[in-house]
Amino acid sequence: MRQLILAGLCALASFAAGAETIAIRAGGVVDVIAGTVARDQVVIVTDGVIRAIGHDVAVPAGARSVDLSKEWLAPGLIDAHTHMTLTETTDAAPFESFYLAETNAYRALRGMHHAAALLQQGFTAIRDVGNDGEWTMVDVAKAVENGLFAGPTIITSGKIIAPYGGQSHRIPHERGAFWQYEYLDADTPDEVRKAVRKNLYYGAGVIKLVTDNNPYHAGLEEVRAAVDEAHKAGVPVSVHVYGGPAAQVAIDAGVDSIEHGFELTDAQLQQMKAKGMFLVGTDFPRAHLDIIGTSGGILPEPAVLGPRIVDRLRRAHRIGVKMAFGSDTVMEQKGRTRADLMLDYLDVWKEAGVPPAATLRAMTANAAELLRIGDKRGRIAVGLAADLVAMPADPLADVLALRRIDFVMKDGRVVRQGPR
Ligand SMILES: [Zn+2]
Repeated sequence: MRQLILAGLCALASFAAGAETIAIRAGGVVDVIAGTVARDQVVIVTDGVIRAIGHDVAVPAGARSVDLSKEWLAPGLIDAHTHMTLTETTDAAPFESFYLAETNAYRALRGMHHAAALLQQGFTAIRDVGNDGEWTMVDVAKAVENGLFAGPTIITSGKIIAPYGGQSHRIPHERGAFWQYEYLDADTPDEVRKAVRKNLYYGAGVIKLVTDNNPYHAGLEEVRAAVDEAHKAGVPVSVHVYGGPAAQVAIDAGVDSIEHGFELTDAQLQQMKAKGMFLVGTDFPRAHLDIIGTSGGILPEPAVLGPRIVDRLRRAHRIGVKMAFGSDTVMEQKGRTRADLMLDYLDVWKEAGVPPAATLRAMTANAAELLRIGDKRGRIAVGLAADLVAMPADPLADVLALRRIDFVMKDGRVVRQGPR
């Protein structure tokens, strides 16, 4: 509801300022559902919304012209698994060290920095799935919605809900449950419901569970409670789980997406397909794994995980489970933005043999459906928001064309035109 009200206010503000019409001449317009390109199209955008598309559409008098006649126009990209406020350092440090030394204010500033960089490179929507301290991404999203900063559409989970201990291991009891700065402990259906409500209260647009991080994992009744409570509020549930019985619980409970799922069996992927459940595979490039190692003790060794990721992505595509792109990027590399690092994942999708059209669909329409914004974003269609990117090569011929994005439009405003 809050998002609806804000959207309404934005629309009123735009009308008050006088709605600008933009006519984009595109060499090709990519249909991410059909996996086809329509050549030599004109796209009319008024008040942030796509009003007409076609070869011969009438251009309204006074429309501002944007010449992309040598470019391919695609929907803005979406990453369904980000942690904008978190940075991991090296494998030598325990996971807790990534957040214990930082304030909420600093986390929010980092989140805004990364979100702005992502938009510049064509990510027009993201879903941030926790590890943001005390709901800092709610404020980053609010700052973008209120026009304080340019950024993507942000759906955020608030605190990660997990069985006792969050993603911490063997912390001495004398230290106390300090991880609750970053997580909500929930070990019964009632505790899960309370944790879900707490996140909803503070502005979550998705509920994130971590269910398999300890010798114990969340049970069916607990995950079902999360699904029931979240769905009643119109919010999806995403579950961090690698495989095994904990993944089976998540599948049986009817969650909306499995995050990671590195060890999912073919049978489990089949069940997910039958239920229309998304896989957000966070398919780390091997070069990234070699830098982050075990991610402070929560990932398998790179030599094990690297090949496993490629194999699981290949199997998931072959079986036909619905996939939404999610990077889980939390590292930094000098001279590169977080978006640069996110686009490294395209190499993994290529290596796994996923065709460009399917990869692009995972990064646009599929992700928008998972984020429950598919009626407004994720495709180039009349009536949808003008979240657009363009590049001088066909992304359906080679998905690495997405690295060459040189035009970004967000809600009808040109964010960037020309190389970075
Ligand atoms: Zn993650």
